Amino acid sequence: MPYTLTTPLFYVNDKPHLGSTYTTIACDALARFNRYQGHDVIFITGVDEHGQKIERSAEAKNISPQQHCDEVSQVYQELWANWSMSHDRFVRTSSEIHTNIVNSFFDRINDSGDIYMGRQQGWYCIGCEEYKDVDPNLKEHKCELHQKVLEWKDEENLFFRLSRFQTQIESLINREDFIFPESRRNEIKNFVKQGLRDFSISRVNLKWGIPVPGYSEHTFYVWFDALVGYLTALFLSHTSTSLDNLGKLGWPASVHMVGKDILRFHAVYWPAMLLSAGLPIPNKLFGHGFLTREGQKMGKSLGNIIDPAELISTYGSDPIRWYLLRDIKFGSDGDFQKERLVNIVNNDLANIIGNLLNRTLSMSRKWFDNGIPLINISNIKSHILASVAEESIKSAITNYSKISFHEAAESILNLASASNIYLNESQPWKVIRTDDIQKVSEDIYCVLESTRIIGILLAPIVPELSSKIMQQLSYQFNNSNWTLDLNWGLLVPGNKLPEPQPILNKLD
Ligand SMILES: [Zn+2]
Repeated sequence: MPYTLTTPLFYVNDKPHLGSTYTTIACDALARFNRYQGHDVIFITGVDEHGQKIERSAEAKNISPQQHCDEVSQVYQELWANWSMSHDRFVRTSSEIHTNIVNSFFDRINDSGDIYMGRQQGWYCIGCEEYKDVDPNLKEHKCELHQKVLEWKDEENLFFRLSRFQTQIESLINREDFIFPESRRNEIKNFVKQGLRDFSISRVNLKWGIPVPGYSEHTFYVWFDALVGYLTALFLSHTSTSLDNLGKLGWPASVHMVGKDILRFHAVYWPAMLLSAGLPIPNKLFGHGFLTREGQKMGKSLGNIIDPAELISTYGSDPIRWYLLRDIKFGSDGDFQKERLVNIVNNDLANIIGNLLNRTLSMSRKWFDNGIPLINISNIKSHILASVAEESIKSAITNYSKISFHEAAESILNLASASNIYLNESQPWKVIRTDDIQKVSEDIYCVLESTRIIGILLAPIVPELSSKIMQQLSYQFNNSNWTLDLNWGLLVPGNKLPEPQPILNKLD
């Protein structure tokens, strides 16, 4: 059974921001971790391209919506390549195959009797692509999120009978293994408790959308079509487009990773749509928090938006990946702070891990003929660092599995700190002057072996740094399955080591 995980399909009204990058970095780390666990991973990302907001963005630029989408989609794909994202699929909702999948999906829920024509009246935010509840006493209604005046809409729309799924959705979200973290589960529970209302799935007078089969004036509501995009992604490398085959292609998703603002669509609307279509529901939803910048909300109007492309050219991808996943408790809101970023990266990656590797390599080369000490592997199986490493491996794997990156990072750092302390206390530079070469050989070998384990455990979060560590240790990383790489004592005694290089230049 494949492990399918998804980022949201990002809305292309504008170029990528730090939020979409953050989600995708987290998914990438999770995808890499699961590949190392031997799972057959399908990592899906992509873009959501329809809707009024896109139509208007294109209009403002005097280009066609398709052209606008092509441009922004290209920016996403280039950016993800620069961030070392390892996605397997990049889905676009303006693609022809997506139209086919949406149509078959619609047919299914239509056949289930869950579609009807109704009248939709209300105050609409184009920014959110959502109707808003308003205070009837006010003269002017604004979207709290966008601070834009809402538009009054009164149109005939097709509706989906969400209300019919009240009981099923309630029992779904009451499950303890569906919505993470738990605090978000409660938000959704409160929303569902108020009673689910049918929602409109089509729009009239909107050209930039997928036409609803059989209703010539209507195009699909952008959220309806975007959610189905997860299914489309699974068909990208197949000739069949029959939804009956989804089970073979990797559905249901193991995890949908989403920002907390769109959790409701994934926890309530999407499962109900799938139930109606007779398709399995995703196994797990993870709603992560938002990032602020130096304590302030990021926004265009505040002029403090962080451009991920700029970020990567200033600091490089691994330092930012490390900072975001190690410093912010995944699931909670986090604050992006430049000074903290620099301090954390320098301290963890350059000082603790980088120095450990560097000084041990230097000693090993100096004393052991430019190579790894010649030792008898059976002698180091019960070395104190072997048991420390075993603990770190166990706890890193547990934490990665829980999607708790900051705790996984901590487990790795523990091994690095313990190894540094071990070196300081065992003082091989003194012992080498006595005749106990065997002790020095074994100690140096074990510290090198610890750094190898550290490098492997780091791979999901900082893939480039990890492979630099492997190169320095002359270790051929198996790269497919951790059970092969995480045994103690895999460095080959006597192998030559290259000249030590810093694995990371300190940031300033
Ligand atoms: Zn809004």
